[in-house]
Amino acid sequence: SESVSAPSHVAIEATGLSHAFGDVVVLDDVTLSVEPGEIVALVGPNGSGKTTLLQFLSKVRAPDSGTVTIGAGDRTRVGYLPQRPEFREGFTVADTLRFYTQFVEEGVDIGTTLDRVGLSGAADRRVEALSGGMTRLLGLGRALVGDPDVVVLDEPASGLDPGMVERLFEIVAELADEGTAVVLSSHNLGPVERTADRVVILDGGRFVATGSPQELVESAGATDLQTAFGALVSTEEVEGR
Ligand code: ADP
Repeated sequence: SESVSAPSHVAIEATGLSHAFGDVVVLDDVTLSVEPGEIVALVGPNGSGKTTLLQFLSKVRAPDSGTVTIGAGDRTRVGYLPQRPEFREGFTVADTLRFYTQFVEEGVDIGTTLDRVGLSGAADRRVEALSGGMTRLLGLGRALVGDPDVVVLDEPASGLDPGMVERLFEIVAELADEGTAVVLSSHNLGPVERTADRVVILDGGRFVATGSPQELVESAGATDLQTAFGALVSTEEVEGR
């Protein structure tokens, strides 16, 4: 019903999210609110629950308990880049993006999206011939088709060469300047420190620290976010993948 939508100044309102796979609790009463134009970075060791939380925020799956409200309700679109983006083989990069425009509106210009993610030169390549990094960029392009108000990116920098990592975080900053709310996970703490408005450190399915990059660095008595992260997270418990 109309009366349950979140206040208009909130892009994502997630409250009391808990989830278990079998006996293993992967998220334990997590609450997060994201404003339009805000960049929130989730950082945490492998297995800390980042992907699961991002799936709940983008509403591709539902938690055992808790609620997620996106913007003004169902009409607000979420662009989602999954950790392992997949595309139907046999189609070109351009045709793939064009396919997804049908779900947003007629006449969307995919050229702008291709330019933005650096795939203009690969527009006629078939998706199965792309490198891992280019596949991720195509996934980013798919998430951005139709200019969603909220963008959720799972490890968008993974597999990108250093120049493209910088470009990726530039794109994220541009989106935020345009008013888009961005939530991403990343192990690239240098760019995260320079770009994120807020960093949430996830460990064992709980938020162990949250604040601006500077706040986290200062509270850990560290010189940079990487060092602060090491001080705040028990990395010997990192679960391998
Ligand atoms: P991260 O993204 O931080 O690496 P994930 O959200 O992928 O963390 O995983 C959190 C925990 O949930 C891990 O212990 C992982 O093994 C477990 N997990 C994730 N997906 C499933 C699943 N479909 N079934 C069982 N366990 C899962």
